[in-house]
Amino acid sequence: MTRVFKFGGASIQDAAAIRHLGELLAGFPDRPLVVVVSAMGKTTNALEALIAAAREGDEADYRRRLEALRQAHLTVMTELFGEGGGPAARVAALFDELDARHRQYRDASYPLHYDQTIGYGELLSTTLVAAWLDATGVATTWCDARELVVTDACHQAANVDWAATARRVADLPLEDGRLLLTQGFIGATPTGAMSSLGREGSDFSAAILAHCLGAEEVVIWKDVPGLFNADPRRFDNAVPLAHLSYAEAVELAWHGAKVIHPKTLGPLQQKAIPLTVRSFLEPGAPSSTIDAETRHDAAHPAFILRDDQVLLEVTPRDFAFMDEARLHDILGRLVDVGLHANLIDSEAMRLRLCVDPKPEKLDPLADSLAADYRLDRHEGLTLLTVRHPTPALLEALAEGREVLAERGNAGTAQRLFRGDQCPETWHIPD
Ligand code: ADP
Ligand code: ASP
Ligand code: MG
Repeated sequence: MTRVFKFGGASIQDAAAIRHLGELLAGFPDRPLVVVVSAMGKTTNALEALIAAAREGDEADYRRRLEALRQAHLTVMTELFGEGGGPAARVAALFDELDARHRQYRDASYPLHYDQTIGYGELLSTTLVAAWLDATGVATTWCDARELVVTDACHQAANVDWAATARRVADLPLEDGRLLLTQGFIGATPTGAMSSLGREGSDFSAAILAHCLGAEEVVIWKDVPGLFNADPRRFDNAVPLAHLSYAEAVELAWHGAKVIHPKTLGPLQQKAIPLTVRSFLEPGAPSSTIDAETRHDAAHPAFILRDDQVLLEVTPRDFAFMDEARLHDILGRLVDVGLHANLIDSEAMRLRLCVDPKPEKLDPLADSLAADYRLDRHEGLTLLTVRHPTPALLEALAEGREVLAERGNAGTAQRLFRGDQCPETWHIPD
């Protein structure tokens, strides 16, 4: 039975990390094994900055950024394979291709330019990792995700063509005893144009392949030992969650728990494929299992923070109601600019929307709303979402803090606070 593993940027951030990954994978000799890998470290952020430099036409800045990226990859390659060793020709060719694509697409639409260049982080990382695994005795075949994951041309958030992807995946050489290594985050349209699945989309890539393969299990390897009831970097007493359901994991991810991409769960749930979240730093440490079992979902309340939030308070100018027609109008404008509301709090004559600080989308939205409504805008806010809340817990969390907007039901409560009234490190009240 096939297994799919996914490793994110932190697990391959430098030569030492790639060596560690090799040792870890050597401990999993069973095949078939499909391994999905992200770009090294923060490469995707650097590629986004490179796109911006290319579009601004600042040749010196563009060249400096491209050379920094090239150098970072060459350093890792030299540390792994020694001077002049490793897949040098392939890495050089990928950088030449990347440069040529920036020149070809810098005047095209942003989403098209983005998708023709952003995936090079994954193409480079998998080239290095595949060569390293193969050189250290883990026989590995490098697969091109652009030939596996078929999508539409909705660039930056491409939609998967499941039937076409399943046909491509069915042709994978699974029975030759070699590990199959491919890129997360990217795919291609039927005509071969590169596409991407959205930031942090490699988890979703692993789920797509597992769904199409009818895999036995997916393991997402992280720098934390599984899912916790809050980000352990932000809450000093977060507790690990050994078991939760697909639906509960979707709730956490949808509300912003950065540990797993929300689209990951659906394809696994449909085929009842369990997902394990495990630490690549401590492979033997306890892990989290996500499957159809709902029994443990409410064992602990869970907490999700979103920082730097913007609150839009929209009020009809004519003392009119916030009725369905107005809700339709206002929410339709969010859809038009592609902005997601992290909280929607509706009253008779006011709608409060909490959104991420994405100026390229937020500014046109605010201009459009201000033309027809009274609009108040507040910035620098922190949204706290609590799953399985109790009144005492919510009261303790809000103590000493102004609540600018809120929403709640038995399953989920949300409170919007001023960021300057929130600590950097939180503590879950007893
Ligand atoms: P990847 O290497 O796959 O990109 P990420 O860095 O995106 O991994 O996700 C791992 C990080 O997610 C952890 O370091 C942790 O700080 C954060 N995180 C946020 N919420 C949670 C949670 N509920 N449980 C565990 N980790 C969480
Ligand atoms: N490399 C991509 C990103 O940083 C995809 C991923 O890591 O999941 O968003
Ligand atoms: Mg990530």
